[in-house]
Amino acid sequence: MGRVFVAGSINMDVVATAERHPRVGETVAGEAVLYFPGGKGANQAVASAKLGVPTTLVGRLGTDAFGQELRTFLAAQGVDLAFVKDTADTHSGTAIITLANADNTIVVVPGANARVDADDVAAPVLGKGDVAVSQFEIPLPTIAAFFQRARAAGATTVLNPAPAKKADAALLDLVDILILNETELGYLTGTELRDRDAPARFAEAAGSLAQGKIVCVTLGKRGVLALVEGQSILVPGRAVKAVDTTGAGDCFVGALASQLAIDKPLRDALAYANVAASICVQRMGAAPSMPTAKEVEDTLS
Ligand code: ATP
Repeated sequence: MGRVFVAGSINMDVVATAERHPRVGETVAGEAVLYFPGGKGANQAVASAKLGVPTTLVGRLGTDAFGQELRTFLAAQGVDLAFVKDTADTHSGTAIITLANADNTIVVVPGANARVDADDVAAPVLGKGDVAVSQFEIPLPTIAAFFQRARAAGATTVLNPAPAKKADAALLDLVDILILNETELGYLTGTELRDRDAPARFAEAAGSLAQGKIVCVTLGKRGVLALVEGQSILVPGRAVKAVDTTGAGDCFVGALASQLAIDKPLRDALAYANVAASICVQRMGAAPSMPTAKEVEDTLS
């Protein structure tokens, strides 16, 4: 059985709720302050670890109070933090979110996440059968270095290019499995895509990115479309009552990686991750809403 190694971001999301957003220069009285552990790297690692698959996170925290809290939270979720370094001269990744009338504004300050470097990702020893996962919230040259090492060790590389940004072909060439949503697919392919477009249109756009890799397009409540050697596999979304879709994409990525690490065939891993993400959307929050293996298996059976 392999391990999952996630090189990625760790953030504290600080949410202030208010009756309305302040205008520029204005101060409004808020209602509550809420703290949520987040960052795509941390969320994906939690998703994988909670499903019972050994999962190592590679990243950085500041030496501030949030750093301590995030470390405690992630350890309690079963994530191996041996390769999460403390960085003295910057703060932990922090997102400042204001929430009013179901609309939010977000300022994300990467802090320590921007310092994750090639030496950091060279520290853990990967082997054949392991799965290396990353996203676009740490420097792209670091991701390339991580995937080069992973490939050389015989591990499978999984990239979730989120949030969308320009990536050079050399980085995409190091990817075995690309997992992205409709917006990221539109951005990377320069195609105008809409939620209601037919799956065939997504498959066509995904085809232009494939170049020998597997491309999985998550389609929200419509499920997921995977393109494997030119063949499309559509796993329909489950009809559930979604209360908060935050972290659904991260849950899908972590769950898929976990199943590939335990040698599940791709079709089964896709179905499993689709069920895991459909459980995640029925609960509030990102990391705290990731399901356990028992919850997924009970739903599958
Ligand atoms: P987010 O940015 O909110 O984390 P995303 O845009 O990256 O999400 P989505 O495509 O919205 O990712 O969702 C990922 C997966 O979660 C879907 O492929 C599906 O399996 C599941 N999912 C999302 N929304 C729903 C829903 N309303 N009902 C059932 N399953 C859902």
